[in-house]
Amino acid sequence: MDNGLHTPDNQTLLQQNRLLTEEIQRRVSQLAAINTVAATVSQVLDLDMALQTALDAVLGIIGVEAAGISLVDEKSGELVLRAQRGWKLDFVSKPMRIKLGEGLSGEVVAHNKVIVTGDLTDDQRLAVPAFSQERVQAMAMAPMHARGRVIGVLSVMSHSPYHFSDEEIDVLKAIADQVGVALDNARLYEETRSQQERLSAVIHSAADAIIATDDRGCISLLNDAAKPFFEESSDQIIGMPLQHAPLHPILRDGLKRAMQNQDQTSSFFDVTLDDGRTLAAVVSHLRRASQVDQADIQDGWVVVLQDVSHLKAAERSRISFIQTAAHDLRNPLGVTLSALVMLREAIDPSDASMQEVIEIAVASINRIHDLIDDLLNLEHIESGVGFQTETVDLSPLLADTLTEMSPTMQRKNQSYNLNIPAELPPVTADVRWLRRAVVNYLSNASKYTQPGGHITLHAYAQDDGLHIEVQDNGQGIPPEAQGRLFERFYRVPGTKEEIKGTGLGLAIVKSIAEAHGGHVYVRSTPEQGSTFGITLPLAMPISENG
Ligand code: ADP
Repeated sequence: MDNGLHTPDNQTLLQQNRLLTEEIQRRVSQLAAINTVAATVSQVLDLDMALQTALDAVLGIIGVEAAGISLVDEKSGELVLRAQRGWKLDFVSKPMRIKLGEGLSGEVVAHNKVIVTGDLTDDQRLAVPAFSQERVQAMAMAPMHARGRVIGVLSVMSHSPYHFSDEEIDVLKAIADQVGVALDNARLYEETRSQQERLSAVIHSAADAIIATDDRGCISLLNDAAKPFFEESSDQIIGMPLQHAPLHPILRDGLKRAMQNQDQTSSFFDVTLDDGRTLAAVVSHLRRASQVDQADIQDGWVVVLQDVSHLKAAERSRISFIQTAAHDLRNPLGVTLSALVMLREAIDPSDASMQEVIEIAVASINRIHDLIDDLLNLEHIESGVGFQTETVDLSPLLADTLTEMSPTMQRKNQSYNLNIPAELPPVTADVRWLRRAVVNYLSNASKYTQPGGHITLHAYAQDDGLHIEVQDNGQGIPPEAQGRLFERFYRVPGTKEEIKGTGLGLAIVKSIAEAHGGHVYVRSTPEQGSTFGITLPLAMPISENG
């Protein structure tokens, strides 16, 4: 039947169908090939291997015989050929380098576009003249992207004339991007691995012993220097709870105690082992920021053990030297002082200039005496030798100390008072040293306060510990000097010559406070007065004190 319309005969329909099927099959196999490239390349984490895999794959899909991958080197601002397949010349061993923006591939990166070109033999756009020896007759180059940036160029080329179809260019672009992401991953992996290797080398070469645990306190890492501290081989130790590890019991107990401390970031302690070695241990929380919400994750512990035996030995000989020297100096000073006192009595009391000379000599001897005493006190407290603590009721101790110092204040016509609550919780302290600390504060308050001034000795308990404060309404201290007051030998510039001092009084108070596990502080306003304080840990938390 002829209805006037042109209807294709069966033959034509079959032909069209076949072409369509072929086209679909081609597309499907291209997509499959792109997928295969992506899958293969992204599984390879070794950068060179990933590059070679990518080239093999691309040549399997596009009907040409040569391909290359150049990567952007951001440091040098160049494009560097990193892999080639099917080229006549070797441009990888001595890499072909092209400035970004120069030549054809430089243009691909700079303008983020695909370039397709024919015969390149005498092409003026070649940045590397030697490349013309490749006698490339057709070439297509596509930018490779990763994380929104162009990271390189994927090129395919033919040594005979070749026409790249639009589909092939689409495939090239798709593969370039797949390869780009995979290479970026491989590059990141390589960077991470080399950083990890460096870190591991640093940890293992450290002279100090380093032990790390996971969040359950089980040993997850130990370096070479840490191995000798354990009585078993490191294979057996990894995974073991640190608190039960085969360590010297004193060391293990110290670590156990430090790991119970959840509040502070780090704890420090010294232990002396049976063999006489002294170790300084630092136990720190291992923290890292969560990838999900940046929260601080407690991820275990790091222990660093340092052999400080040589420092301890040096410390001991230093203390013994100072004590001997101080002792040897004090004796002749005592003799000289007695001689001066006798001399003063022997000479004519009306000879004012002679009396003055002797007064100066006596004052100087007394100063040297004070300096030696202060140095000895400082060394003594810092050595910890003879430091003996007991539970102390502070009220009588503070009242006694104020009474002991009252003549000094009365001589300057200064008034004073004790301000303490009826009940003060007890502290654990060495009474002798604590008294010395309060005496030093009171003596300073009197020295640096004008005659007629007022001094208060104040104590109170707070959650952070027991505070002992000495407040005066004296000359005060300039803000810029306040941070240095507790340093040895520091005196505020401009301190009057006639106010005698060694510059060690506050350093002694600080050492005493620290030996008790406490600390010192100061608040001061020039011309108005100062408050010097000590905080001591309470023997029991306030709630248990009632
Ligand atoms: P010094 O033997 O000089 O008194 P200290 O270590 O006791 O040494 O004090 C260091 C310096 O701090 C003093 O020289 C003084 O300048 C300043 N200082 C200490 N206490 C007070 C105070 N109550 N008022 C003002 N200045 C003070």
